[in-house]
Parts: sequence; structure tokens; C-alpha cells
Amino acid sequence: MAENTYVLSIDQGTTSTRAMIFDHSGSVVAVDQVEHEQIFPRAGWVEHNALEIWTNTRDVVGGALAKANFNSRNIAAVGITNQRETAVVWDRSNGRPIHHAIVWQDTRTQKIVDALAGEEGLDRYKETVGLPLATYFAGPKIRWILDNVDGAQERAEAGELLCGTMDTWVLWNLTGGAENDGVHVTDVTNASRTLLMDLQTLQWDESIAADMGIPLSMLPQIRSSSEVYGECKPGILNGTPVAGILGDQQAATFGQACLAKGEAKNTYGTGNFMLLNTGTEAVPSQNGLLTTVCYKIGDEPTVYALEGSIAVTGSLVQWVRDNLGLISSAPEIEDLAKEVDDNGGAYFVPAFSGLFAPHWRPDARGALVGLTRYVNRHHIARAVLESTAFQTREVLDAMNADSGVPLTELRVDGGMVVNETLMQFQADILGVDVVRPKVAETTALGAAYAAGLAVGYWENEDDIRTNWGEDKRWTAQMGEDERERFYRSWKKAVTKTLDWVD
Ligand code: ADP
Repeated sequence: MAENTYVLSIDQGTTSTRAMIFDHSGSVVAVDQVEHEQIFPRAGWVEHNALEIWTNTRDVVGGALAKANFNSRNIAAVGITNQRETAVVWDRSNGRPIHHAIVWQDTRTQKIVDALAGEEGLDRYKETVGLPLATYFAGPKIRWILDNVDGAQERAEAGELLCGTMDTWVLWNLTGGAENDGVHVTDVTNASRTLLMDLQTLQWDESIAADMGIPLSMLPQIRSSSEVYGECKPGILNGTPVAGILGDQQAATFGQACLAKGEAKNTYGTGNFMLLNTGTEAVPSQNGLLTTVCYKIGDEPTVYALEGSIAVTGSLVQWVRDNLGLISSAPEIEDLAKEVDDNGGAYFVPAFSGLFAPHWRPDARGALVGLTRYVNRHHIARAVLESTAFQTREVLDAMNADSGVPLTELRVDGGMVVNETLMQFQADILGVDVVRPKVAETTALGAAYAAGLAVGYWENEDDIRTNWGEDKRWTAQMGEDERERFYRSWKKAVTKTLDWVD
């Protein structure tokens, strides 16, 4: 077997960790995947066991190599992509987390966020970091851990603790961890989700870190998304360079070859995330979107994005499965929904973690409205699917308003895009074409590209464009009047969810 002929990508997601091996054409050669426990200690709290995630990472890397019958010599480089904003704090001397990782959906930091906002408001840091203050981002989660684990603040100040998002945790462990002086680094895309990074200098903003009481010594060094950060240590991918890191949504944007200003993708996973490449300019949003780093390839100029993040889309399907028992597997939602032509008047607004873009209303909670005696479980299944499409419409409208240039088509990916009923409804409710690529694993692929570019496995971005191919396209079949009527009802439904929590 030839050496260095493949790239391995580690995708540390919200529900599972995957390892995927790609060839030069961007096709998947092998994949292994393990789910991890979702820990819900209280309403609104979501945690992961970071040690379990690291064990799973080792297992899936070993599993993917075994399935392909490869060893580390076949792998030219390793890329990492990850659930963003999920934060972990650990002891640098023994590699043990001092608390479970706090997951991006977790809302426990509301009081910290309110205190930081003070009189200046939630947009206090927006000009510097591109984000409103919200429980979603990593910085306040680190603050919470330092506040709630005995002695943590003192230990952090003494340099005993390290923190990071999941990319940093995986990289540090891959490159040696506590025993072998692991590399403590994050990339610009993950750092741009902490509320702590200055979007222009790409460095930690010392005054914001001070406001949050987070010692700079515990923060990872910020590097580009595509460069050699270090080598894997013996035991796992021995000696292979780790050469790419991208937060999952930025990775999907890269894997979808949205490499020119004005190109956008939407990922349908646990939540939904639409990113529009805005080129080398960080565009401030007037319409509830986030300004974030899209990617930075080595020394090349930073590319920015506008992002619309929706907290609950695919996870509503999981909720229907796990909490209602209406279905026993996610794909069954489509079978149920297909039995009826419309939602029967029912609208489901899944504001389980408040509402993210474009509303940013932490006080919202979920609502199922428009019910009559007529509505049955088929209509509810449709309302569940439609909620993803309507939330996406809100974000697309905001993006068109911010960028001034209406999108003409939307590239889609993620676990929900196998659902053709949803994809058709999405095209109907947007009035623009929805396009699914041949390689649906764009997140893992994007991180592979970032790593492969850094070591010369792929030469330049043209290789990525060449590899991208269309699988299926959905075009709107719904008339304008009907589209706007449905959307008006949705907007009315959204108003019912606000002001629920004091
Ligand atoms: P993540 O990377 O965020 O963990 P994935 O991209 O793997 O998520 O997508 C998983 C999500 O997709 C789950 O929330 C699941 O409920 C949803 N899902 C999977 N298959 C379907 C389907 N056929 N129809 C609707 N939703 C689905």
C-alpha cells in the first residue's frame, strides 16, 4: 500500500465522534463512528464527558484504519472538526477534566451573561468579536466552571488548568496529552466562537478575558485553520501531522466548496447553521446574524462569514423519538409526515434553548400552536419537519438583508438532508433551489481539505472545487401566495413563544 495517500478526518460532533478517511477525489474510503452520552443534569443543562469523547476518538480512528486495512503510514495528515462552543477545562498535569464539558446548547450561563451585559447590553462586545453575549458561546461556560468547581479559579491563575473547545481537547490528547506535552492550540474559527477573540487581530482580547476572569494562561494559542500544529504521538497515528482544524460549520462550508464571496451552505444536524462566505471582510450584521471567521489557510488572508445559527432542528426529531415516542427512529418522521399533504394548521416552534438567530431570545420556550380536533400525529410530524424549513427561511431573509444580494441557491448537508419531504418543503418555503452534493459528509471532508492543503496533499482550492459535484436539486413548486401565507402563520407562532421565562 502506498504511503501518505489518504487524509484522515476526526469529526467530534454533538451526538457522536467519527473518523473518516478520504482519498484525493474527496471520496470516503472508510468511516467509523461512536455515539457518546448526552448528560442532562437539569432542565436547560447539557454536558458531555470529555474523557469518554477522547476514548471514542481513539476507538474510531483505530476502527476506520482497521476497516480500510491501513496503518498510520497511509495517512498524509489528520484534520479535526468539532462541535463548536462546547467547552472543557482540564488539569494539565494529569489530563483529567475538572468538570464535564458544557455543551453549546446549555443555557446555565444566563446569569453570567446578564451580569456581563450589565448596562451596556448584550451587544457590548459585538464590534470586537462579532457576537452578541449569549449562553451559546464558550467564554461564559468556562467562567461557570471556574465559579463552580472548588479552587478552580486559583488553580487556573496558578497555571495548573487548561481550557479549550473540543478541537483543542482532541488535539492536545492526540499530540501527547499530559505525558508528552500535548500541543495546546485552537484555530481561528473555533476561537471566534468564544466571545474572547478579536476578529481583526485574531488574538484573545485581554480586556474581555479580564471581564470574564479567564486567565490568558489557560487559553490555547490561536493559529490558522490549515498548518501543521504537531504530530500524533505513539499509540495513535504515530508521527502523522495534525494539520487542519475547523469548527464543524466552517468545515462544512469549506467542504461544500463555498470558497467565493456570496456562496452559502446550510447544514441540517442537531441544529441548523447557515454560513455565507463574505470574503476577506468581516461584515457586521444588522439582522441578528453572527459575524465569524470562515477559515484561514496558513498565511493567506482571513476569510469571514455571516452565520445564522438555529439551536433546534434535527434534535426536535430526536425529541419526538425519545420524549414522545411517536417514532422509533429519525427517518420514520418522514413516513409519518408523508401521509398528509399539509400541517393541518399546526405549527411547532422548538424554542427549547430559547431562540437563536435571528431572534436571540433566551426567554423563549417551545410551543405547538394552531391545534384543532382535526390535527393528528401526521400533521404534527409535518409541523416538526416544517419548523426546520421555516427557521431556515428566517435566517435566509436576514442574510439577504445583511448582504444586500439575494441568494439564488442553497447548498445543503447534514443528517436531515436525506429527508426528501423536508428538502422539497424547504425549496418551496424559500423560493430558491436547494442543492445536495454527492459527498454529503462535508464537515469531515472540509477538515480533511484543510489538513491536506497544509501538507501539499491537495495543491490549492481549485482541487476542492473540482471535487464538488451535485447529487440532487429541489426547485420550488409552491406558489408565492401560499408560501407567504404559511410563513405569516409561522411568524405568528413564533410570537407565542416569547416572554415565557422571566
Ligand atoms: P450532528 O453532526 O449535529 O450530530 P447529524 O448531521 O449527524 O448531526 O444529523 C443528525 C440529526 O439528523 C439528528 O438530530 C436526527 O434527528 C436528524 N435526522 C436523521 N435522519 C433524519 C431523517 N431521515 N429525517 C429527519 N431528521 C433526521
